[in-house]
Amino acid sequence: MRYISTRGQAPVLDFEGVLLAGLAEDGGLYVPEEWPQLSAQALRDLRGLDYVETAFRVTWPFVRGPIDADAYRRILTESYSAFGHPAVTPLVQLDRDLWALELFHGPTLAFKDVAMQLLGRLFDHVLEKRGKRITIVGATSGDTGSAAIEACRDRDNIDICILHPSGRTSAAQRRQMTTVSAKNVSNIAVEGDFDACQDIVKAMFADTEFRDEVNLSAVNSINWARVMAQIVYYVYSAVRLGAPDRRVSFAVPTGNFGNVFAAYAARQMGLPIAKLVIGSNSNDILTRFFESDDMTMRPVKPTISPSMDIQVSSNFERLLFDLYDRNGAATADAMQTFRASGVLQVGENRHAAAKDMFSAARFDDQETMAGIARWQKSSGYLMDPHTAVGLLAAEAHPTADSAMVVAATAHPAKFAGAIKEATGAEPELPERLAAVFAKEEHYATLPNTLSVIQNHVRKFRNRIS
Ligand SMILES: *Cc1c(COP(=O)(O)O)cnc(C)c1O
Repeated sequence: MRYISTRGQAPVLDFEGVLLAGLAEDGGLYVPEEWPQLSAQALRDLRGLDYVETAFRVTWPFVRGPIDADAYRRILTESYSAFGHPAVTPLVQLDRDLWALELFHGPTLAFKDVAMQLLGRLFDHVLEKRGKRITIVGATSGDTGSAAIEACRDRDNIDICILHPSGRTSAAQRRQMTTVSAKNVSNIAVEGDFDACQDIVKAMFADTEFRDEVNLSAVNSINWARVMAQIVYYVYSAVRLGAPDRRVSFAVPTGNFGNVFAAYAARQMGLPIAKLVIGSNSNDILTRFFESDDMTMRPVKPTISPSMDIQVSSNFERLLFDLYDRNGAATADAMQTFRASGVLQVGENRHAAAKDMFSAARFDDQETMAGIARWQKSSGYLMDPHTAVGLLAAEAHPTADSAMVVAATAHPAKFAGAIKEATGAEPELPERLAAVFAKEEHYATLPNTLSVIQNHVRKFRNRIS
């Protein structure tokens, strides 16, 4: 498979190239040159296959070329053996035609593990081949750092340093990161807030000398391999519900548009998806776009579904590229206007094409908590706030002729505060989360000073204590 940039000005790359590049040189995002097709027969042939074999068949056309088939199968097997459910992403029936697709059985109990577990191993494999070693640096407000750490721990060719704001993450979030005992993992508590952490990371990337010295890299949400890994569970669940002979719709709680874009990709590949329903919290830029072609940047508001607290959905550019008939110059133009003016409008025809596939709905924290309480009461099913936003969106956009599947993106115990407020009771801690309270923490508390943190990264990389 060859990959092209959504802005049309970056070199065409193979899978290994896009894996390591992340963002394209022209500021665009890489997408496959064409969508590989899953015929009705190919979908029927997936019936009864396990997750790993399904993943291999669905994603191999994207990977083939630079990576060997046996090695890829081995990497997939290892990636999903760390999941706490034999089905990897099980379906739970909530109502006659309503299902939850639980994506939170990975090491950190949230859906990002599904892609990150694969990404870390793919990185390591490619680096090994090239005889390279990288240092991944990232900042977290608490939610996403642990998925990156779990993905990179114990990998031979990767060191990972995650910065979190000292004293400003929950104990559970901090412990999920700091109780990982691996010699290639370093946690840094920065004396400052999340913005300070992000500024330090940006400054490290801007320091070219330092960047080259430690081979700095990132694992961000726009990496094509993350989207690719997420396509699998849409195909896997739809086949289990009767595809291609029955149509399925998906409702997805959405922030950066990565998860729901993977569902769109599955549709482009031939999976019979009737509708894609997007759920937003009060940070509703996407819902405003799908409702009325009004994509206007607004300041971020903190909510009880923090992984969807975004101002701009970075993966949306991939859909935009298709809405502009894969015209890179037109996409680049639209993005430049958006960045400069804070407003994006695609016009009547493109907006109608988008609405044909997607519906969207927004829910504030009060509505979300009421939804959690109502579902727990009526069905006994306890949802985290992100999942609840997805489920409420599904209820707002019922479909007559298809099964509805809600992406359940986090385990409720990860958001115990909101659950307690919604239902009056703390959620039960799963084994994996309870275990972190018994383990020893490893982290360094450092001042909010670039040179001090750079020195720490340098010493860590060279294993000098
Ligand atoms: C990241 C995340 C989301 C949003 O996914 P996107 O791919 O950014 O749209 C939703 N729920 C949870 C729990 C997440 O961690």
